Amino acid sequence: MSHDRLMRERLSHILQEVAKAEHAAGRHPDAVTVELAVKTQSVIDVAAAASALEEMTGRRAVLGHNRVQELLSMIENWPPGAPEVEWHYIGRLQSNKMGQVLRTGALIETVDSAQTLTRLENRLEASSQKYPIYMQVNTSGEDTKAGCDPREALALARQIYDSQYLDLCGLMTIGTNTEVTEDIAQSYRKLRELRDQISHDYPRRDGLELALSMGMTKDFTIAIAQGATIVRLGTGVFGPRA
Ligand SMILES: *Cc1c(COP(=O)(O)O)cnc(C)c1O
Repeated sequence: MSHDRLMRERLSHILQEVAKAEHAAGRHPDAVTVELAVKTQSVIDVAAAASALEEMTGRRAVLGHNRVQELLSMIENWPPGAPEVEWHYIGRLQSNKMGQVLRTGALIETVDSAQTLTRLENRLEASSQKYPIYMQVNTSGEDTKAGCDPREALALARQIYDSQYLDLCGLMTIGTNTEVTEDIAQSYRKLRELRDQISHDYPRRDGLELALSMGMTKDFTIAIAQGATIVRLGTGVFGPRA
C-alpha cells in the first residue's frame, strides 16, 4: 500500500475509534477534535494528512508541533494548495524561543508557570485580540513531565484571566505513563475536575467552554471517556516515528 494510502487508512480508523469512544461515553458526535501531532514528519506528509483530515471531518485541521524551528520552517514551506490549518504549539516553552513561538501565531498549549506567563506578556503587544493559550497541568505527578502542580492551577488560571494579553482557552495534560487504565483515567479526570472548577470560579464572558487537550495514540479512548475535547495523535496517524 502506498505511504499516503496507509496514512489515510490509519486516520480513517482513528476517526472511527474516536466516534465509538464519544458514543460509549454518551457524548455528542463531533465533541472531540483530532489534533495531529506532527513532530519529525515532513511538510509533504503533514500537508497530506491535514487535507485528509479536513476532507474526512469537514473541519479545518488542527496541527500540533513541539519544535519551534521546525514549526516555522513548516509554515514557511507549506505547499500552495494545501488547506489552511490551525497551529498549536505543544513543546516546552524555553525563554529564548518565546519570541519565535509567538511569531508563528500558534495557540500555545504549554503555559505552566507564572514566570512563563510574565515572559510571554513582556513579549506581547497590546492588541485588540488576546493571544490564545492553554494551561498545561502535571496531573500525573511524574517529575519528568512539564505542567504546573494541580494545586497551583487555580491561582495560575486567575493570573491568566487577569492578563491583558493572554486568553485562557483550555487545559492540557500528558497522561500518566502506565499500562494501568484506571491510573491513566485518574490523571485525565483530574484535569476535567480542574476545568470544571476554573469554569465555575471564572466563567468566560463569551460562554465558551474551556478545551481539554488530553489523550495520545495509546490512551485517547480513555481520555475521551473522561471528557477530552482535543486528542493529540501522532504515531496512530503517521506510523512509528523514525
Ligand atoms: C508527540 C506528542 C503527542 C502524540 O503522541 P503519539 O503517541 O505519537 O500519539 C501528543 N502530545 C505531545 C505533547 C506530543 O509531544
